[in-house]
This record gives sequence, structure tokens and C-alpha cells, in this order.
Amino acid sequence: MSDIRNCIIIGSGPAGYTAAIYAARAGLTPLLFTGAEPGGQLMITTDVENYPGYPDGIMGPAMMGEFQKQAERFGTEIKYEMINKVDFSESVHKIWTESDELFEAHTIIISTGASAKWLGLPSEQRLMNKGVSACAVCDGFFFKGMDVAIVGAGDTAAEEATYLAKLCPKVHMLVRRDEMRASKIMQERVHDMPNIEVHWNTETVEVLGEEEVEGVRVRNNKTGEESTLDVKGFFVAIGHKPNTDIFKPWLEMDDVGYLLVQCGSAKTKTEGVFASGDAADKVYRQAVTAAGTGCMAALDAERYLVEKGIL
Ligand code: NDP
Repeated sequence: MSDIRNCIIIGSGPAGYTAAIYAARAGLTPLLFTGAEPGGQLMITTDVENYPGYPDGIMGPAMMGEFQKQAERFGTEIKYEMINKVDFSESVHKIWTESDELFEAHTIIISTGASAKWLGLPSEQRLMNKGVSACAVCDGFFFKGMDVAIVGAGDTAAEEATYLAKLCPKVHMLVRRDEMRASKIMQERVHDMPNIEVHWNTETVEVLGEEEVEGVRVRNNKTGEESTLDVKGFFVAIGHKPNTDIFKPWLEMDDVGYLLVQCGSAKTKTEGVFASGDAADKVYRQAVTAAGTGCMAALDAERYLVEKGIL
């Protein structure tokens, strides 16, 4: 029997598991590598209230447990290992685990996700999920009626500040320079919201509180003056880093590292390699969109195998 697999999936967030469910049901007997953080970004969130089908919400880790169970039910093989090297130079693609074991497959589905960037403050780490969040769309609702702060000045920060301003009486936007990187239209939206106060030249010194966020200490980096903002939520929107470094020699990506796929598909320019989820999406970054592109990747992989006469 050949050791060459039909389909290997790298990553175990909503994209990876959805790809696995579709690939397994299509008879591809997929092998999925979970990576270092099985379950992906949802494992560090609490309630997920915006994923359709869970009217009462579900905890992120519980939801990923369900995804995994569903993938396994149809025969997905799961390995709790990290892939740290790939070679996509031939039609049979090669990948290596951390322990240097080689696996080969006709199709590879990449669902390695992206990681939110953090400021790196100990207080930010301590209060993670206790008022500190990197996703306003996911967690903003929990701060309805409360004052919050958001760090960042790109399109994400502008979009999330505007989103929060519809839920919260006051949004403090902490911008480290005297201008924003966000597009003009997004900046205009921020300025049009009367309850967003932009603090220019402002850095975060510390998030206050032990068990929940009780405020944030900020410093004006021009004057050195420090002050405390009375907020219950602290959002960090300073960018994401797609987990795609190992694919750099082989796949097209933008300057940040997001994988490029052909419009309306999950196909990369390399035959038999498909990308899904946040690793290829810098705009939406939602569990439900990741699941959708995971499905696309599996369907594209199945079609590819049929076209090549492998399946
Ligand atoms: P960006 O990299 O564009 O912006 C990051 C922001 O965070 C910058 O303003 C940066 O400040 C600030 N920042 C970085 N590190 C720190 C720090 N340590 N302390 C304080 N501030 C910090 O990331 P985004 O996530 O905003 O956007 C990523 C890409 O996605 C962009 O191309 C964007 O256009 C796109 N996007 C598009 C959307 C849309 O079209 N609707 C929505 C969201 C994103 P500084 O400017 O000083 O470097």
C-alpha cells in the first residue's frame, strides 16, 4: 500500500476541522496535524455567541471539541504534532513534523490560522479573557453599557472602535503616534462617532485589576504625563500575524504573510495545495468564515484528486 496520503490538513481551528469533515465524508481519509495549539484561537476565547446553530452560545473550547468529534466520526486521523518544514516542489507534497518524521500527500490543506499581536505587558497577559481581548466583534457584546479602551490605529482598530461605540457609552482609542494608519474613510467613521475619544501619542503602561479589568494606565509619549482611564474592557487591535512562515519558499503571500488564493476558491498557485481560514484572510477572521473556506478547500482538494485520476 502506498504511503502517499490523499489529503493532509495542517491546523485544527474551524477551518482545519471543517476541511476534515468534508474531506473525510468524501472518502479522502484525511490526516490532520493539530499544531502546537490544538483548536486554534477559539481555545483562548470564552463564550462564542455569533456562530450560527448555538442559540445559547457555546464556550470556544467546547465548540472546538465538537468540531473535532465530528471530524473523527467520519474517519479523520488526528496527530497532535507541529509541522515545521514542507517541500511543495513536486506533485507529491512533503511535510515534516517537529520530530522530523516525513509525511507525503497528493493534496495539502493549510489552515494554520493567525495569531493576534499583543503589547507584551504582564498585566495584559494576566487579564486575558477577564476584560482583555483581541477581538471586539467576538467579545464587545460582553461590555455593553460599559466604557472600554482600544489600542491601535489601523483599519482593524478603527473598525473595532466604531463597532464598540455602538455598544459602549465611551470608547477610548489609544494611538501611539499623532496620526492613524487606517484608511481615510475608516478614520472619518471614527471621528464621526461622538463617543470615541482618540488619545494621540498615547501608550499603555498597565492594565489595572486582578480578577477583572478595572482601568488602564496610559502615558502621553510627548509630555510623559500619565493618567488612568476608567474602563472595564481593554481591546488590543495592533495587527495579526498569519502562521505561514514555513510556506514562504513555496507559496505566494502578501507582505504580511497572508496566503494568496485564486479568487472564489481555496487554490494556491501550487497545484494540490489549498489555503483556508485566517492564514489566508486578513479581513473577516471569523470562525464561521474560516469554516466556510475550510469547506471550500476540501471540495477543491477532492475535485483536484478526481481530475488527476487519483481518487
Ligand atoms: P495594521 O498593521 O494595519 O495596523 C496596526 C496598528 O497597530 C498600527 O496603527 C500600529 O501603529 C499599531 N500598533 C502596532 N504595534 C503597536 C504597539 N505596540 N502599541 C500601540 N500600537 C501599536 O493592522 P490591522 O489589523 O489594522 O490591518 C491589517 C490589514 O488588514 C491592513 O492592510 C488593513 O487595511 C486590512 N484590514 C482591512 C479592513 C477592511 O477593509 N474593512 C478591516 C481590517 C483590516 P503605527 O501606525 O504607529 O505603526
